[in-house]
Amino acid sequence: MKTVSDYFGELVFDDRVMRQMLPADVYASLKKTIDEGVDLNENVANSVATAMKDWAISKGATHFTHWFQPLTGITAEKHDSFISPTPNGGVLMEFSGKELIKGEPDASSFPSGGLRATFEARGYTAWDPTSYAFIKDKTLCIPTAFCSYSGDALDKKTPLLRSMEALNKQALRILRLFGNNDVKCVRTSVGPEQEYFLIDKQMLEKREDLKLCGRTLFGAKPPKGQELDDHYFGVIKPRVAAFMAELNTELWKLGILAKTEHNEVAPAQHELAPIYSTTNVATDHNQLTMEIMKKVADRHGLVCLLHEKPFAGVNGSGKHNNWSMATDTGVNLLTPGETPYENAQFLLFLCAVIKAVDDYQDLLRLSVATAGNDHRLGANEAPPAVVSMFVGDELAAILSAIENDEPYAGTEKTTMKLGVSVLPKFFRDTTDRNRTSPFAFTGNRFELRAVGSSANCSSAVSVLNTIVAYQLKRYKEGVDRRVSSGTPMMKALLDETRETYRACQKVCFEGNGYSDEWKAEAARRGLDCETSVPLAYDVLNDPRTVELYRDTGVMTESELRARSEISWEIYSKKVEIEARVLADLTANHILPVATRYQSVLLDNVSKMKDIFEGEEFDEVASGEIRIIKDIACHISKARSLAADMEADVDEICGIEGERAKAIAFHDRVLPYLERVREHVDALEMIVDDQMWPLPKYRELLFIR
Ligand code: ADP
Ligand code: MG
Repeated sequence: MKTVSDYFGELVFDDRVMRQMLPADVYASLKKTIDEGVDLNENVANSVATAMKDWAISKGATHFTHWFQPLTGITAEKHDSFISPTPNGGVLMEFSGKELIKGEPDASSFPSGGLRATFEARGYTAWDPTSYAFIKDKTLCIPTAFCSYSGDALDKKTPLLRSMEALNKQALRILRLFGNNDVKCVRTSVGPEQEYFLIDKQMLEKREDLKLCGRTLFGAKPPKGQELDDHYFGVIKPRVAAFMAELNTELWKLGILAKTEHNEVAPAQHELAPIYSTTNVATDHNQLTMEIMKKVADRHGLVCLLHEKPFAGVNGSGKHNNWSMATDTGVNLLTPGETPYENAQFLLFLCAVIKAVDDYQDLLRLSVATAGNDHRLGANEAPPAVVSMFVGDELAAILSAIENDEPYAGTEKTTMKLGVSVLPKFFRDTTDRNRTSPFAFTGNRFELRAVGSSANCSSAVSVLNTIVAYQLKRYKEGVDRRVSSGTPMMKALLDETRETYRACQKVCFEGNGYSDEWKAEAARRGLDCETSVPLAYDVLNDPRTVELYRDTGVMTESELRARSEISWEIYSKKVEIEARVLADLTANHILPVATRYQSVLLDNVSKMKDIFEGEEFDEVASGEIRIIKDIACHISKARSLAADMEADVDEICGIEGERAKAIAFHDRVLPYLERVREHVDALEMIVDDQMWPLPKYRELLFIR
């Protein structure tokens, strides 16, 4: 029997394969391209392409594709076969360096937010050699970036790669201050914990809302939900276990480090966490993971729901992004060190992150703001939509000691004078975990918990990389200024840390992030409390944002503007689809059934009248009459609200400008979705169960 280590990565053109299949000199130059970003020459590209093709064919592949992540949030692929005709009527299997490096998908239907004029609609894809090629569906998939001919990023990967580079550059400059000259590169890593729901495929077929919107637009609360806390970490049902086993195998074949799996809080909810890797690779892997989850579920008669809030009343799904920075020499820059010197460095990086998050809360908020995630954030199960940070008691105490230039009175105190301050040796307290913070320090990494389950990790991670890069640059400037005015280096570093921390404390919050008091306190502190998703997108066009992205080289003003346009457009479309589905379900599925049931009752009451009279009739029929009236009331309200909503949607669709349209959808249509639902859910509780046209929550949430 093949063991996991036998087949792990067997569908990946990874370092092991490259070393084995490429001539030594080709391997060496490809390695240089991967590690240092050196351009590939054509000969090397041809040689790599041939090896890739031969390897892929030996694994049964017939096609290749440039695999990319357009701004729609999906991953896109267009397959081309390797075949090339020969004069004698046969075919050869060919794949050139040019085809490897660059592709020209006819991508005119992808949103470009105005970046791509129609005359140059094609755009091109460019190989990203830092993420290994792999085989999926008999197709060699080459991870690529997607750009317009003028070089504008039309995808999610390009800004991520640029942000990694920006952070690398600034972090290296800081490390040099500490005399760290061996480090060649600093990379950011992410370990995304992916939450998801599994439901029965047969149920999905009967729920148009789940099929078309990914979430239920109706559904009365089941008698049992997550109240007993009996699902979290509970025994995994055999059917789910079989799904997980096959999922793991598929992921391992693709070199994805699937590690932890467990049941989550809500019934039918689960989580998969991989071992973290470089942000770029982890993001590609997470995109693949979501795709494979859906495919494998299908083979088990299940459906994997990645929507942030498939069911009201039980927890939604997130994707905690565990993020850190580490050197190529293996040092995690967010790990407290052994010596005060290392700790000075650690605290600098820590404070840089705090300051970055304080300065750009609105950008982090933006990076997780979607129509779907909006249903989750701020509910009492997920981090609030206000971005704050948690560092833990011990670090908070250390930071405050530094801030006040006082010795730290920690348990493990080693007093060592370094210029002015005392930097103790300290240990991370692993029990110190705040689950209600959207952005928590967890000992050697930050955990951004506000990310939605269906999101592409790059959105949040590239913002993090960028704001921290920018802050590190400011830090270096501050230290340089101090040193040039005669302050010794170590003191300059600590003074800068102190000043930075002083300037950014308002974003630190150690308490319960779910509480109403915190919402009030956050507003008092002047934190960004914007709850409207379309308004959150405004920050993309803010001059501060434009300057941040220009300075770090991660995005141009027009790329940012394009992203805001596309975000508004996607938001509007999502809400429009939900409104149309809700109206259809209400008018064509729910109300006819409710009316039919009402007729049954009416019929019954009128027949009772033949038998009973006067007070006797009142006594036996009054209950039913009340129900008939209730039904009539809910039917008429649901009908008129749904009709009003549709009229509004039609009108909003005609509004000029994506921003105005999205705001109108948010302000005018979302409330209708809620209000219609109230009446329909009330009807669900009244109407004969046998007649109800949609599977109910209790059927959806408890698979056998
Ligand atoms: P928990 O539920 O306690 O947060 P999990 O085991 O579910 O922990 O997930 C933790 C995630 O954090 C994993 O993906 C793990 O690989 C990742 N992780 C651990 N250390 C780091 C690090 N230094 N940088 C980034 N991610 C990390
Ligand atoms: Mg977890």
